[in-house]
Amino acid sequence: MFCTALPLGRWAGIAVRAHWSALVMLFLIADLLASAALPRAAPGASPGWYWVTGALTAAGFLTSLLLHELSHVAVARRHGLGVKRITLWMLGGAAELEDEPATPGADFRIAIAGPIASALIGMTGLGAAVLVADVVPPLPVSGLAWIGVGNLLLAVVNLLPAMPLDGGRMLRAAVWSRRGDRARAGTVVGRFGQVLGAALGLAGLAQLLLFGSFAGLWLILLGWFLIFAAQAEFAAGPLRDRLGGVRVGEIMNPSPTVAPGWWTVDTFAEHAASTGHDRVFPVLSFDGVLIGVVSLGDLIRVPADARRVTTVADVAREDRAVTVVGVDAHVSELMNRVFLRHGRDLVLVTESSALAGVVGADDLARAVELATLGHRPRASDLR
Ligand SMILES: [Zn+2]
Repeated sequence: MFCTALPLGRWAGIAVRAHWSALVMLFLIADLLASAALPRAAPGASPGWYWVTGALTAAGFLTSLLLHELSHVAVARRHGLGVKRITLWMLGGAAELEDEPATPGADFRIAIAGPIASALIGMTGLGAAVLVADVVPPLPVSGLAWIGVGNLLLAVVNLLPAMPLDGGRMLRAAVWSRRGDRARAGTVVGRFGQVLGAALGLAGLAQLLLFGSFAGLWLILLGWFLIFAAQAEFAAGPLRDRLGGVRVGEIMNPSPTVAPGWWTVDTFAEHAASTGHDRVFPVLSFDGVLIGVVSLGDLIRVPADARRVTTVADVAREDRAVTVVGVDAHVSELMNRVFLRHGRDLVLVTESSALAGVVGADDLARAVELATLGHRPRASDLR
């Protein structure tokens, strides 16, 4: 869903990007304000001014969305959790944490910070609009009031008790704290999300059919989204929870065949033919520095007559296909981040910046299968 995203720079040290749907939302808000809401609230201005105010208000709304996410980030950091990035999209934003909160209390506080921020921005916007109403022209006052109303609405929608909305996380934390079982809590919230999603969808449909109101479309979209998210929660929740405590160091292959970067393709192919069963290898430089990953498939792409002069380092992949993690990283978190192709990709595992092992597609699949069987993979396994 987040494949096409526009980078918006770094805020408080975190990469922020906007999904294309956020830009669609920005345009829809600006259009709605310029063509209907603003002319009604402040009649008599020229169309150009309605558009300028509409665009500025929409941009202000997007900024307050970012502030909402940054408030999640601030509380997450207070609980010692890192944040990978923030993505803004049509129905709000998402701050991707590097790890799941360890306690229901932390989960709850991180979740509630967003709606509190939105409610505060909303009240500030409305309050400011009231305060300056007598001294400022009506058009900017309307824009300010709309930012206020939009943020109050944002706070309310985000408090709906369904994942991945903040209210869903708060409900999950509450159930988790009551029953002491996070996986069960996820299932309860998933069921809530399905019911709520269906109810919102039906309400939207009724609005659309009975009153011809296109606001119903928005409700249908929100309802469909909540049902979809609940399904994903059902599917991922229990497994993620069983894998929750397993670290990458426990499932990695600690002694992979290493490809010396300075060897020629030909020499290494000969070596690989007689060593182990691997099809993809970590590549190290002469001084032991990690270069990347190379697969037999990568070697095949080197023309036959060039294999005696091309080095392994020349064909090693160091692009984003190669993920480097520490031995203490959580397997569940790794699963969210990477998709490994059989015989093509490897995750490089490091301990104090030296290569400690590798994780391939089979290692991940094995961890999932063992977790499904109710067993935890152990580092001491023979390979
Ligand atoms: Zn939020």
